[in-house]
Amino acid sequence: MNFEEQLVGLLGKSIKEASEAELYTALLKAVQERIDERQITQGTKKLYYISAEFLTGRQLGRNLINLGLYEEADKLLSAHGKQLSKVEECEPEPSLGNGGLGRLAACFLDSIASLNLSGDGVGLRYHFGLFKQEFRDRKQYEVPDAWIEDLGWVRKTDVSFPVRFGDHVVHSRMYDLDVIGFNKGHTKLHLFDLDTVDESIVKDGINFDKKDIEKNLTLFLYPDDSDKDGQLLRIYQQYFMVSNAAQLIIKEQKDLGHDLRKMADYVAIQINDTHPSMVIPELIRLLIHEGISFKEAAGIVSGVCAYTNHTILAEALEKWPMEYLNEVVPHLMPIIGGLDYAAVCAYHDNKNLNIIDDQGKVHMAKMDMHYSHSVNGVAALHTEILKHQELRPFFEVYPEKFNNKTNGITFRRWILHCNPELTAFIKEMIGDGWLNNPAELERVMYFHNDEHALNTIAEIKHQKKIQAAQFIKEKEGIDVDPNSIFSIQVKRMHEYKRQQMNALYIIYEYLRIKSGVYPAAPITAIFGGKAAPAYIMAKNVIHLILCLQELINNDPEVSKYLRVVMLQNYNIAKAEAIIPAADISEQISLASKEASGTGNMKFMLNGAVTLGTNDGANVEIRDLVGMENIYTFGRSSDEVIHLYNTNGYSARSYYDHSESIRRCVDFITSPELLAIGDEAMLRELQDNLMNKDWFMTLLDLESYCNTKESMIYDYLNKGKWNRMMLVNIARSGFFSSDRTIQEYNRDIWHLG
Ligand SMILES: *Cc1c(COP(=O)(O)O)cnc(C)c1O
Repeated sequence: MNFEEQLVGLLGKSIKEASEAELYTALLKAVQERIDERQITQGTKKLYYISAEFLTGRQLGRNLINLGLYEEADKLLSAHGKQLSKVEECEPEPSLGNGGLGRLAACFLDSIASLNLSGDGVGLRYHFGLFKQEFRDRKQYEVPDAWIEDLGWVRKTDVSFPVRFGDHVVHSRMYDLDVIGFNKGHTKLHLFDLDTVDESIVKDGINFDKKDIEKNLTLFLYPDDSDKDGQLLRIYQQYFMVSNAAQLIIKEQKDLGHDLRKMADYVAIQINDTHPSMVIPELIRLLIHEGISFKEAAGIVSGVCAYTNHTILAEALEKWPMEYLNEVVPHLMPIIGGLDYAAVCAYHDNKNLNIIDDQGKVHMAKMDMHYSHSVNGVAALHTEILKHQELRPFFEVYPEKFNNKTNGITFRRWILHCNPELTAFIKEMIGDGWLNNPAELERVMYFHNDEHALNTIAEIKHQKKIQAAQFIKEKEGIDVDPNSIFSIQVKRMHEYKRQQMNALYIIYEYLRIKSGVYPAAPITAIFGGKAAPAYIMAKNVIHLILCLQELINNDPEVSKYLRVVMLQNYNIAKAEAIIPAADISEQISLASKEASGTGNMKFMLNGAVTLGTNDGANVEIRDLVGMENIYTFGRSSDEVIHLYNTNGYSARSYYDHSESIRRCVDFITSPELLAIGDEAMLRELQDNLMNKDWFMTLLDLESYCNTKESMIYDYLNKGKWNRMMLVNIARSGFFSSDRTIQEYNRDIWHLG
């Protein structure tokens, strides 16, 4: 049956008569039927990628692309006066992740399927996922994000496992999301849940009774953990996730008739950050139940498990008090104790290596490093910092375990879907080999002196800016000028990412415009990002940006040269709408703090020029494009690490010694801003920047402003700028997650 017949059959009416919502439902069913026809990829060895987050984004567009049906569906709908992109907007976005780590997991599943490797994702089916961000009175409010629909892409299965919490047993329910590869490959994301979860217990924003585990277990991703009940709930969630994963693995191995003692020949587990770390003791426990000794089981599990570290921020390296683990998973404690004892015996002279510290806290990352055969960082610089700074004691005893896997992004979503115009032009230039072999993008370099190619890339960028301006008008009600330079910083709100430095730059520019000095080109500064609900300083920065948006956009004298947009509820759909429109990609984290970044790669692929510190994967972008095609500034990671180690940074002295820094910081509590904003929040932010500034904003502020100014000046030189865009596109093939996954497979998983 052809696609049109299938669709019309499902609709029960003509395409012309159908609403967009009806078309969405019919397309979902039609696509799901096609997916169900494609065989699941099999191999001798299977990967299980366990992650607390999978930020998948909407499925309709990606599935149509990967099935090779997108253009056909697009043409079919337009022939009947409908727009596929509008139909796609009917799909609620799954809210199963928080930022880069969850998005990486989703890109990896897309690449695993597309490379026809055998590997499933395992995670949780959070009913409200991460909260939805709303702005009121220029402040962030959190509300539940009810993304689950009766008929959606995530389907209930009849698989269930008993999960024990102490003397209390619950019964899980597995849901599956199909992950169809590009042209070939088919795998699954398994999301576990409890049938007893009760959405009606959520009251007053995102609050609920934290004690009632059977009702609350999978309500939210990262529920508030500011108190003990919240921390216990996180342990319940983590154990529930890994116990299901471990039971699924053992069941599948038994069904295949494999010898569990040879598990490392048939199974690879990737532990994505420390949330799934308890899979190690849980799998050992289950193997002991199968009659295998503790010692042998520990050896088997080490041969199976590999751990990815995503951050050096201390706050993210989880340590759980033993008493909490005793409360939730008492049956794991003898195993964890045994693992600690074995590690302590082997390395008794180095307390840094102990899994359980002197305060009785269990360090999940340390358990991972002792009992995995691989430990990887996510960008070259990050892995070096792990080896020589943060995880040095472990690198000294296990040098062979450490390896780097620079992150990547799936080109299916981050260019084919979000930028069909640029995709088509690249095909015109170099054919379509790069779709399956991203290294071939390099061939775009043949066109680096081709006037027509350079102009076409510039025209496409302009079109994407016009589309983004319409999107911003529609969603945020703000007018922006597509002829201005679009500088974009979209990512989670965190002090280390330094949105506050960008905000201070905006103040700097505002004050200059007010004094009659105008920028070389008009600027539109676009932000987007959620702050963790308990992260006060991040919320204060959002407040400052929203106050600046109000002040600047409503000042006719200034808004000719400068406008500010803070997108509400930044998510994958907004990322896809906005990233292709960027001229400047703002990647301004404090050097050493951003492990990799993947936003930086999405911008590069879409022809933005990076304004960044020498941090994370920015370093690799710089090496690929050369210094003449990137703008870097600020202190190096070595200098920053030295400042931390010696307590050598004083925000106050930067404030005291620089007139221009002082004027920017002072402006945060100017009469203009106090007339708009909340005095307590603005004062708290200002005070923190002057007297604490843990992530060293003032250290790099002047070099940031100067570098940005020269970048804006260069933007007027169209020949130069267009060539920079082209070089960035041409050299971005390295950042395909297909390359990343091939490296994981070659060095760690060894799938058949
Ligand atoms: C890519 C992406 C991120 C990660 O961005 P970074 O700049 O690497 O922090 C976060 N959120 C969304 C929605 C993304 O698409």
